[in-house]
Amino acid sequence: MNQRWLSSVLLVGLALASPAFSADGKLNVVATTEDLASIAREVGGDRITVESIARGYQDPHFVEAKPSFILKLQKADLLIVVGRELEIGWLPPLIQQSRNAKVQVGAEGYLDASQGVRILEIPTGQVTRAMGDVHPLGNPHYWLDPENGRAIAKSMCDKLSQFRPADRAYFEQRLAAFSTRLTDAVKRWTAQMAPYKGTKVVTYHRSFPNFADRFGLDIVGYVEPRPGIPPSPSHTLDLIQEMKRLNVRIILVEPYFDLKTPESVARAVDGQVLVMPPSVGGVKEATDYFALFDYDVSLLVNALKATAGK
Ligand SMILES: [Zn+2]
Repeated sequence: MNQRWLSSVLLVGLALASPAFSADGKLNVVATTEDLASIAREVGGDRITVESIARGYQDPHFVEAKPSFILKLQKADLLIVVGRELEIGWLPPLIQQSRNAKVQVGAEGYLDASQGVRILEIPTGQVTRAMGDVHPLGNPHYWLDPENGRAIAKSMCDKLSQFRPADRAYFEQRLAAFSTRLTDAVKRWTAQMAPYKGTKVVTYHRSFPNFADRFGLDIVGYVEPRPGIPPSPSHTLDLIQEMKRLNVRIILVEPYFDLKTPESVARAVDGQVLVMPPSVGGVKEATDYFALFDYDVSLLVNALKATAGK
């Protein structure tokens, strides 16, 4: 019998018998966001394929469900989610409709990336509807601290190694390389931001507490009166008064929010609006996890340089 023919028959047989691997031998990973997909690519290298569901220019709280998402989940070996209820408005029905036992909540192929990271704004006391879209499990935008990115990469490495013990050394070596690059990058970003430590800013939504905490910004208000609630005239007036009182001139706005209110606030305080992506893919320059911080840090630094002494 032809040796090559036999081995390809065996390979096909193995692929069929082993549902955790696609025909090309790669683990099929689906991440809910482009940030998680980017980190998964760093760790998984050529042993995995990665797709994301939400695009970085979309509000990750509100993603319109599409049939193609269900198809992605049907084929997935591993689903990686941000968790902390970020995707609660759209992901659960998609997972359910995929009928893929591997990626159901709690299954081996379901990874909540928020395990092991530093979570801010965990509410104390009772959470009520009147507080707006407050997350009872804390602020879910935690990937905007690169140190949390490192922790996310670590849990991905553990999970991928669990699926493919033979590739553990490969994943660990890639994790170490990512971690080294990240350490250097954090040094660079911290140095760039250092002259502006303590600068007061306003943000539209509560997307940036981890970023602000890491890089020394002081967030003193939000364009939204409460998380997930659109701007109201009375809150906007209060915000303008507060910004004048504290001499705040920078308003950070995520790419998916309307600029009308932020721009009117900026005019009232002689300040400026910066459209700052909280995710990979939020602007075309933010092509991966590193490029996202490169973009955001230089956006801020350029604006703060220009307003220094104002
Ligand atoms: Zn949020």
